[in-house]
Amino acid sequence: MNDQGFLQNTTEPKRARVAQKALKSWYLEHARPLPWREKPSLYGTWLSEVMLQQTRVETGIPKWHAFRERFPTVRSLALATEEEVMKAWEGLGYYRRARLLHKAAKAIHESGDFPNTHAGWIELPGIGPYTAAAIASIGLGEAVAAVDGNVQRVVARWGGIEQPVDSKPGAAKIQAIADAWLDLQNPGDHNQAVMELGALVCSPKKPACDNCPLTSTCDSADNASLWSRLPVKQPKKKPEAWNLTWHVATFLNHVAIEQRPETGIWAKMWAFSETPPPASFAEAGDLCSPVNHILTHKRITATFKHWQAPDLSTLRTHAKNHGGEVVTWTEFEQRARPRLLTKIWNELCSEKG
Ligand code: SF4
Repeated sequence: MNDQGFLQNTTEPKRARVAQKALKSWYLEHARPLPWREKPSLYGTWLSEVMLQQTRVETGIPKWHAFRERFPTVRSLALATEEEVMKAWEGLGYYRRARLLHKAAKAIHESGDFPNTHAGWIELPGIGPYTAAAIASIGLGEAVAAVDGNVQRVVARWGGIEQPVDSKPGAAKIQAIADAWLDLQNPGDHNQAVMELGALVCSPKKPACDNCPLTSTCDSADNASLWSRLPVKQPKKKPEAWNLTWHVATFLNHVAIEQRPETGIWAKMWAFSETPPPASFAEAGDLCSPVNHILTHKRITATFKHWQAPDLSTLRTHAKNHGGEVVTWTEFEQRARPRLLTKIWNELCSEKG
């Protein structure tokens, strides 16, 4: 289809209905038995949607179970401390999601119940249009089309949309097709069907058009020169390089740590100081070789400079002067830490006690 627009072409609604039916039968046969689908609940669906925003399903499943066990109800999540929530989120990264999940749980707990519409969900912290639509359609049966990255890809290829899906006109076109596809009787299953098709069949690098229920109606079916270009995205900024030096000040098995600022990278997580300690500390080389770590906007090379304090009291004074604390390495493990630290933890802790 060209840029004249999906809805202006009178043959398109029929094509959309054919696609919708095909998706429905395909999903009945191919839906994966994911834990949050077994006994669906608003809490479970919400949690799965937040977790899967930047996490693969395979990683998300055990984490979803563990999180549900730790916080079985929205009340228990709302009443937990932020530290406890961060700890339970460890390994999933993008901790901002956990902080917003916690804030939203508090808001739900204060209001007495979950929102019962898409409009209500979108008011909560951390809930964008996609997440609100997914929860409202799956958990409440509200007829709203949910558009995530998988859906963008399927729809852009199906409709031959060549405008960037992250531009205003491109996004509007994708949304218009997703709305036209929507099964009003069963919006939750329909939305999950499109997302599932994107995850299992219409994959980014090698779509399995031969096994796709949309083959007969898709503009890109078996057309590698088209599907390989779609979806089009606006050029991304290159992640910025950041040479980070952490100063690890220790005395025996004790280490000075600091909580990072409320905003910015690794907000409110515990790490080492970026400022060297005073001259009374002895320089003891690097704790391990420099570590490379990539975040969405940063390409980090972290160096861990080791400093030994003359005694515990000097270490405590140094930590206090920077608003930090002194803990044992084992105690530090209980704090919410950047993933960069957890991934090299064993290597790092030569002084671990
Ligand atoms: S036919 Fe191919 S390109 Fe079209 S939606 Fe299916 S897998 Fe994707």
